[in-house]
Order: sequence, then structure tokens, then C-alpha cells
Amino acid sequence: MSNQAANNSENNNVTLVLFHNDLRVADNATLLKASKISINGKLLLVYASSLTDILDDKDHYDAYRYDSIGQARQQFLHESLADLNASLIQRGNRLLYLQKGDEALNVFTQLSNLIAQQQVTDICISQTADYNQNKVYDLLQAKYPEIQWHIQTTATLFDELPLEHLPKSFTQFRKQIEADYDLLHAKKDIATYPTPESLSPMPKAMLNRSEYFFAAQVFDKQVQQQSNFKGGESSGLKHLDAYFDSDAPSTYKTTRNALDDWTHSTKFSAWLANGSLSVNTILNRLRRYERDIIANDSTYWIWFELLWREYFYWYAVTHQEKLFWFKGIGQHAPLTQLDKNLLAQWKNGTTSYPIVNACMNQLRTTGYMSNRGRQLVASCFIHELGLDWRYGAAYFEQHLVDHDVGSNWGNWQYLAGVGADPRGCRQFNLDKQTQQYDPNGEFIRQWQGNTQKSD
Ligand SMILES: Cc1cc2nc3c(=O)[nH]c(=O)nc-3n(C[C@H](O)[C@H](O)[C@H](O)COP(=O)(O)OP(=O)(O)OC[C@H]3O[C@@H](n4cnc5c(N)ncnc54)[C@H](O)[C@@H]3O)c2cc1C
Repeated sequence: MSNQAANNSENNNVTLVLFHNDLRVADNATLLKASKISINGKLLLVYASSLTDILDDKDHYDAYRYDSIGQARQQFLHESLADLNASLIQRGNRLLYLQKGDEALNVFTQLSNLIAQQQVTDICISQTADYNQNKVYDLLQAKYPEIQWHIQTTATLFDELPLEHLPKSFTQFRKQIEADYDLLHAKKDIATYPTPESLSPMPKAMLNRSEYFFAAQVFDKQVQQQSNFKGGESSGLKHLDAYFDSDAPSTYKTTRNALDDWTHSTKFSAWLANGSLSVNTILNRLRRYERDIIANDSTYWIWFELLWREYFYWYAVTHQEKLFWFKGIGQHAPLTQLDKNLLAQWKNGTTSYPIVNACMNQLRTTGYMSNRGRQLVASCFIHELGLDWRYGAAYFEQHLVDHDVGSNWGNWQYLAGVGADPRGCRQFNLDKQTQQYDPNGEFIRQWQGNTQKSD
């Protein structure tokens, strides 16, 4: 083939990036790959919300799923997309946004139409542990077998499970990882991917399809004021710097269990969950802190918690749809059930447990709850109220700004005794925990936990 012919054939390439939980331009192997294969071709950069609505029976998941995501989570996502869009515009392209409209076309059909109309030749995605998202990718692959798929890792420390099998417990996992791949203390920093300086343009025919262009949305002011989390890679990187420029990492282990203080834990989770921050970037920053400032139990514990995240990612990949089963990965279903009244009390913060009410009010208002709070409200849900854990997990999924499929459903299974906990299940004594973590009742007062059910 002559050079001219080679160039012509390259000009027909239309590459589509389907963003999911990789909403950043730095250290993004998927975007980098797309920028390389679309040189001399065209590039479509797409975020498709509610893509999984196409699946009718999300493997028994339909009964307890919600219709729309909570305000705080929605706002965080929108801010993240707005920031990504700005970065893409700087690089010569922009974000296309597919969403459920008033008219009937579902998002899967919209995406299929776009692929067909623009004669997409290549699709780039990031590997995900999200079972339902993967089912949608399977459907697309079956529908367009001629398209070449390029799958990169962007969410985890390891490109694939670095062990032969996923150990049954986190402790075994951590010990094996630390023995074989001690990334915290390795000589060299973790390699990260360069940010593409420029991107190929979108196909000409798309330039006047402004209905697809991402447009920032205005949100409820009250929600905005309540939340410290601002979505997007730029604010994530700012937060990362602010955290490691402070003394907080050096005391993390002693403060991480607090119920309500911005600096008492890292607050990286929301940016990590939708991929506006890469875990490798965080780990390199932690390594730098250990080198330049101090390495102690607290800095080690940040790595320890990042390993929990890694564990639940590979847990979700390993157990697939079992993540949503009532009996989890075990043999026996718990002796709990759905009671709509109790469920409503838990959601609305009107149970007879002030600490639980306060945490739930905080979640509904801000989209965040501390790890201690999550353990307490989940324990109450399962052990005091006797409810089916999946409804609790689904409610968390709806509201948490940091919702992550592996971490959320995996932690709920763990607490319900149907997951990766060698001890069976975890029940917390709520009175004792209140004494320990809110001895003066400040947290309960702040989040109005004393408003109980009126019967
Ligand atoms: C019932 C339940 C549901 C949860 N759902 C989620 C979820 O949807 N998304 C999520 O990111 N975390 C979830 N967690 C884990 C944990 O509560 C949050 O990661 C943490 O509170 C986020 O705050 P942080 O970033 O300040 O955490 P830090 O304490 O600063 O921890 C640093 C990072 O380590 C990871 N991490 C910490 N604890 C855990 C853990 N137990 N499991 C997995 N990763 C962890 C997170 O990425 C976190 O950002 C859940 C925990 C429970 C008990």
C-alpha cells in the first residue's frame, strides 16, 4: 500500500471513547489509547448516563433499585463531567452527553444510533468491576461485531488480579500483596500515563448536533452549600495537594473513625469512585509524603485502606452477579426481610437510634457518611431492624457521592455475613458506639438525630 493509501484509510477511522468511571485526562490509559489510534481520524468522546436501564432484570436487582440518583450524587457527577468537558475542549474536542429524555429513545438506542450513523470503527473503554455496565458492553459488542474494542485499566493499582485466586479474606489478600508487591515501599514511583496534549476532532457531521453537547446544569443551592465535595479532576487534584500539604496524613490512623470532620479521613473516595482521581496518583503522593515528611502507622494505614478498595474491586470482578444476591457469595440467605415501614424509618432518619438517624440525615443532605457511620447504620439495618441488606445497599448506591459498586455491595455483604468476613457477621452495640464516638451528643444534635418516629 502506498503512503497516500495508508493515510486515506486512517482518515476513515472513527474512535469512540465511552467514559464511565474514568472521568479525567491525567493518567487515563483509555483516553491516551484513543488519542493514539485516532491520529488522522475522528474522535467521539461520550458519557452515557443510565445506560444500564436497557437491562430488564438486572439479575434480581430490579426489585430494590431506585429510579433516580440522589441530588448530591447527581451534582457531584455533573461537576465532574463539566470539568472533564472543559479539559477536552482545551484539547480540541468536547464531551457528548447521552441521557434519558422525555421522548422515548432510551440511552442504549441513542448510543447505538450514534455508533451506526458515525460509522464508528473503534471503541475505547476502561475495565470496570460494574457487572451491569459490563453486560451493556457485551450487548454492544454483539450488536457491532465488526468494531474493534480497546480495554484499558484505569481504576486499580494492578492491571489484573495479581494473585492466582482472590483470597477469601481481606487479611490474606493484603498479606500476599504486601509480600509480593509492596507498592508503598517499592524503590520507584508507580508509572502513570501522560496526559494527551491534543485530541483529534469529532466527525464534522457532529459539529452542529449541539443537542448532544454536554451542558452544565444548575443545582439546588442548599445541596451545594451542604457539600464539601466538588466534583471534577481539577478539584480532586487540589484536594489531594491540600490533604498532603497538611499534617492530617500523619495522624490519619487516630482520627479516621470520627463521625464528622473533613480532615479526619482523606475524603478521596468520591473522586476515586468516578475516576476523577487515579489511585496511582494518590499512591505516589502518599509515597512522597512518606519520603519528605514522615512515614508512620498513619501513613501506612492510608495504603491499607486503599488495599481494601482494591480487594473489593477484584471481589466484584470475581463474584459478578453474586454481588447482588441475597445470600451473597455464601450458601445461606440471612434471616431478614423487607419491611417497608422500617425501611422508610431508616431512610428518613426516624428510627429509635439517634446516632443512626443523624448519620442518615447527613447522608441524605450531603451524599457522604463516615466509614464508622456506614458501619453503624448498616449494622442497625441488618441486625436491629432485621431488613434485607440489599435495600440498604441500593439506598447507599442512590445517595453516596462516592458510590463504588465493589466497595458498597462488598461492604454490605461483609456486614450482613454473606461476604468476605471470616467472622460471619458484624453487629455493633449502638449505645456503646454512641458513647465512644459522640460522647457529648454534638453529632446527633448537628444532624437532628433525636427526631424519632411518632407512634
Ligand atoms: C456499608 C458500607 C458501604 C460502603 N460503600 C462505599 C462506597 O460505595 N464507595 C466507597 O468508596 N467506599 C465505601 N465504603 C468504604 C468507606 O466507608 C469509604 O471508602 C470511606 O468512608 C470514604 O471516606 P474517605 O475517602 O475519607 O476514606 P479514608 O478512610 O480516608 O480511606 C482512604 C480510601 O480507602 C478506601 N477505603 C477506605 N475504607 C474502605 C473500605 N471499608 N472498603 C473499601 N475501600 C475503602 C477508599 O477509597 C477511601 O477513599 C463503604 C463502607 C461501608 C461499611
